[in-house]
Amino acid sequence: MYPWLSGQEQQLTALIRRRQLGHALLLKGVAGTGKRELATELARVLLCQHTTVASNEQPAPCGHCHSCQLIKAGNHSDLHVVTGQQRSIGVDAIRQLTQVLSESARLGHGKVAVIEQADKMTEAAANALLKTLEEPAGEATLLLTSAHPERLLPTIRSRCQQWLLPVPESDVVLRWLSDQGLEPNLAALNVNQGSPLGTRDYLAAGTDKRRQELLQQFALLAKQPQTLTSVQSGLLEQPVHLLWLQLLLQDALQLALGLSSTGLRLVDSEALCRTLSQLGPERLNQALTGLLQLRQTLQPGAGRPVNAGLQLGQWLNDWMINIR
Ligand SMILES: [Zn+2]
Repeated sequence: MYPWLSGQEQQLTALIRRRQLGHALLLKGVAGTGKRELATELARVLLCQHTTVASNEQPAPCGHCHSCQLIKAGNHSDLHVVTGQQRSIGVDAIRQLTQVLSESARLGHGKVAVIEQADKMTEAAANALLKTLEEPAGEATLLLTSAHPERLLPTIRSRCQQWLLPVPESDVVLRWLSDQGLEPNLAALNVNQGSPLGTRDYLAAGTDKRRQELLQQFALLAKQPQTLTSVQSGLLEQPVHLLWLQLLLQDALQLALGLSSTGLRLVDSEALCRTLSQLGPERLNQALTGLLQLRQTLQPGAGRPVNAGLQLGQWLNDWMINIR
């Protein structure tokens, strides 16, 4: 289990042993914190033949009972997982789950169903699940995970025991990333909003270098206006590139306001922030306001508008006039 989740795992395992876990648990937390892994681990604890109130001495899951072995082999008939890999979770997937839960447990230790990224359920799927949540089948436990619980039906949320996984402490994550053979830095963690697994993938893909290049180009636009087209296409590559830019401008504004440099999010770009801070708070604030609006209209999920390039071009044009 990931080091930042071990405390959560222990608390939840203790609840299972005391039979205080409800029949439906919703694990909430930002993307890339290991919700899926935690749900899988809880499923193992729930189904392990040695998890009983009487055997508090025994570790759970034990790892060697029949149930634990079947899960390891990915072949446990009392465990049903709806993965979040697809674009949405349809009503058929939920009906199948309900069907599986209504059958009696083969190994006599109850049944467990996991729904990953439960917010991907369609309305019909959510309504189908609601029935199961209202009339839980005997020994069944439902484990839902979601990074966007606000997108779930309120009636689903209210029928679940909700468990929030906090953003992990940065020093724990940085140490873990080093152990993975990566070269982590706080700025990389900040642009990934503290997400350990998100930062791992980002670093492994070499994206941190891309961020530094792009922000450098942007900060030096006044001196090198010929790179404007390249900056524009770079910012359009991924919606998150605008977040990088936002953090840079926010840090620059912090310095322009004469505030201390502690708490800068892009700790590795302080020199660039200092260069930009010379524009003064007013111009930086104006640019930031425009950028925030731009991010709102271009945010993924709302579907990228066809004229995204045009809108970004307009913002960059204003910026070029601003820095002249
Ligand atoms: Zn076991």
